[in-house]
Amino acid sequence: MKVAIDASVCDGKGYCKRFAPEVFGLDEWGYGKVLVEEVPPEQEANARAAVEACPLQAIRTA
Ligand code: SF4
Repeated sequence: MKVAIDASVCDGKGYCKRFAPEVFGLDEWGYGKVLVEEVPPEQEANARAAVEACPLQAIRTA
């Protein structure tokens, strides 16, 4: 599973980091950033929870 954040949509609420802190962080401006593009299997559940939690559907998966 791969993840990416659409920076044109993200408004920095930080839910992604809260739900999957090993996959998502926040950049110096407080916007979401991907820490590991290729999500390890043991982190997939958290990553999917972050996708669901993002209020703007800014996280894409592949
Ligand atoms: S939860 Fe969504 S809107 Fe919030 S920081 Fe993460 S990607 Fe951006």
